[in-house]
Amino acid sequence: MTDFDREHIWHPYTSMTAPLPAYRVASASGVRLRLEDGRELVDGMSSWWCAIHGYNHPELNRALREQLGRMAHVMFGGLTHEPAVSLARQLIAITPEPLQHVFFSDSGSVSVEVAIKMALQYWQAQGQPGKSRLLTIRGGYHGDTFGAMAVCDPVNGMHERFAALLPQHLFADRPRSRFGEALQPGDIDGFATLIARHAGELAAVILEPVVQGAGGMWFYSADYLKAVAGLCRQYDVLLISDEIATGFGRTGRLFAGEHAGVEADILCLGKALTGGYMSMAATLATRRVAHGISADGGVLMHGPTFMANPLAAAVAVRSIALLLESPWQARVQMIETQLRKELGPLAAHPAVADVRVLGAIGVVETRQPVPVAELQRCFVDAGVWIRPFGRLIYLMPPYIITPAELRQLTQALTSGLALLQA
Ligand SMILES: *Cc1c(COP(=O)(O)O)cnc(C)c1O
Repeated sequence: MTDFDREHIWHPYTSMTAPLPAYRVASASGVRLRLEDGRELVDGMSSWWCAIHGYNHPELNRALREQLGRMAHVMFGGLTHEPAVSLARQLIAITPEPLQHVFFSDSGSVSVEVAIKMALQYWQAQGQPGKSRLLTIRGGYHGDTFGAMAVCDPVNGMHERFAALLPQHLFADRPRSRFGEALQPGDIDGFATLIARHAGELAAVILEPVVQGAGGMWFYSADYLKAVAGLCRQYDVLLISDEIATGFGRTGRLFAGEHAGVEADILCLGKALTGGYMSMAATLATRRVAHGISADGGVLMHGPTFMANPLAAAVAVRSIALLLESPWQARVQMIETQLRKELGPLAAHPAVADVRVLGAIGVVETRQPVPVAELQRCFVDAGVWIRPFGRLIYLMPPYIITPAELRQLTQALTSGLALLQA
């Protein structure tokens, strides 16, 4: 079976001719993945930011089963249903007040495409079709589809390969000012210059607030984000906040924009939206944007087949309720404190360039790219699931992890450093 997988199935960012190994999972529950060979791994990844409540959660299972008994799916064109309405209500209630309109789609990348489309259509309908470019900061990640790819980091993203096909957007330098610190003098200047010079052709600024995820796991100053939001207002450029990774408590606030008190015009949510159960995403917009799009009588030109899928919506409703009923702040705070204590000292390791922790995210940046397959094997042998990439070994466990289980993750990570060259 493993041979069939190797020979016929692509895994993320892998080669069909020389794939990285893939471990066979038989089941998962709580914070543990059970491999087919019987080994159990403590999960340090939450399946890429998603499984915040852990796996096989009885209440999420029940929400899905109950919805399944009613209907798995119906088209959203001309029809609506209770799970979609409840979920939209919840999202509007927990996000900043100006966001009042919700577009459901099936993945984070698509929610970014929709956000970009909203911004472009908004300016077209306002009679300013020249405002059609985007400005972002380097080091970002917004997804793998073409519109999203065009605003990913131009160096570590996929620009090189597709440069000729991608719209040419504007990139300011990655903020130097670290999270928890004030804005360093000059840090916003590059961004300020670009937005001032190009305001007339800019539809929107798009960024991940405070935490840049797959583009480098970098945590930047909330003051930088505040300054960006101020400049967007000053130059009448929309702000798109991509909280697909940071949403639902991961950084210690329900949404990362709260660290800076910033309210975006358009907000993208995904990943933990359904507690890691189903693929679903949402793009929220203010009344100004939503109504502005139709100022010329036009309609928002998007409508995925599985829009507002009832199963996904039902499990999302339950997942959000479960999160809000739980002591999630205390849990994330405890994870943060323990990660600081147990990963912090690794900053002195000769193979380590930097250690950073924010909320339930711990990052060890190494000096050299890590040998992924070898390190992965070492982690699996130590009974943990940690998936490094590039020069980054990072932890973002389900919020329900216990101190002893988290310790197992940080200890395995520490032992794994022995495999690395300084
Ligand atoms: C994962 C991610 C995306 C893309 O989401 P998919 O569901 O993988 O398409 C977009 N933006 C950010 C910040 C992400 O972390």
